Amino acid sequence: GTKLDFAYRALPMRVRFGVGSVAMLGEELAALGLERVLVLSTPGQHDKAGKIAEALGDRAAGLHPGAQMHVPTDVVQRARAVASHLRVDGYVAVGGGSTVGLAKALALESGLPIVAVPTTYAGSEMTPVWGLTENGEKRTGRDDRVLPKSVIYDPELSSRLPSNLSITSGMNAMAHAVEALYAPDNSPIISLMAEEGVRAIAQGMPRVAAEPADEEGRTAMLYGAWLCGACLGATTMSLHHKLCHILGGTFGLPHADVHAVVLPHVVAFNTPAAPATAAALKRALDTEAPARTLYELSRSAGAATSLHELGLGEVDLDLAVELATRNPYANPRPVTPQAVRAILTAALIGSPPN
Ligand code: NAD
Repeated sequence: GTKLDFAYRALPMRVRFGVGSVAMLGEELAALGLERVLVLSTPGQHDKAGKIAEALGDRAAGLHPGAQMHVPTDVVQRARAVASHLRVDGYVAVGGGSTVGLAKALALESGLPIVAVPTTYAGSEMTPVWGLTENGEKRTGRDDRVLPKSVIYDPELSSRLPSNLSITSGMNAMAHAVEALYAPDNSPIISLMAEEGVRAIAQGMPRVAAEPADEEGRTAMLYGAWLCGACLGATTMSLHHKLCHILGGTFGLPHADVHAVVLPHVVAFNTPAAPATAAALKRALDTEAPARTLYELSRSAGAATSLHELGLGEVDLDLAVELATRNPYANPRPVTPQAVRAILTAALIGSPPN
């Protein structure tokens, strides 16, 4: 039987979910007393954010489509200058982890509230974790000031998320749930969310791969992303996130693609030592072989299956193994250099896991 022994902290936040729910943004801002927000986006999402800002009328003091990957400090400086010039009283982040990340960096200094309107499945909007990149080095931390006060999930906004990113971003979300299931600070409520999050994404993913605008598929994936993001915000991540952080940070491989390639191999490695996680994944994915099923789900939806095709070489393995084993961290199985090398080698060539 499972031993019940846990601590759980609920994060204060409002969530609105549903097709067309972005129309509620003004009401949501009013409820928070926000009258002059700065709407943030990446350059690629300028049009979408512009329309959302326009619909807010006077409540939007300005639009700043200057968000960039990894939240570089000069990008934060420019946004901060715009925000103080316009004397804004809050931020609306329309986008994925990069845009939410910019809003978080601003909120960390100013203490002003964030309302997030996610357009990917990365889940940053559900966490009090911020990140900043200066001189090529990324610092991260936790601070309740950067947790959005309110999040609006509208599946319509992700209907044109590029096909490959839709799938890899979904795998990114499932990775949060997987590692929350065996996290040292897991709790029963988080396990419920994690299992349901994996189930929802696995159900939505083939539909979205077949038809990117499929409303039912987009709704399932975004619902799953919410649950998985909440898991990320509540627990400590382990080997999978460590490896992805190294592969993205030190080797510059694309964030979401790396998650898609690595996840099945870490699941294959960890589940023998995490029976409750294995059981939850078997139920959620309706399979006896969760690692193999994740691999097939992602591959058949069109995602990369090898780190090789993302640009990693065999010569990079020594350093990656060294970085992944330098400092100890929680994981169901001991993180030995041999184990990490075996996982990374399988991921490098993209062999199917057992
Ligand atoms: P992203 O925000 O960088 O977006 C990727 C690209 O997709 C961008 O060019 C963006 O303009 C475009 N895009 C986003 N939504 C779109 C849509 N609906 N339609 C068309 N194009 C769209 O990528 P991401 O995967 O969402 O976020 C990754 C980043 O977030 C990483 O830097 C990661 O470290 C960070 N992250 C942080 C946390 C946290 O808790 N702090 C959690 C998850 C991710």
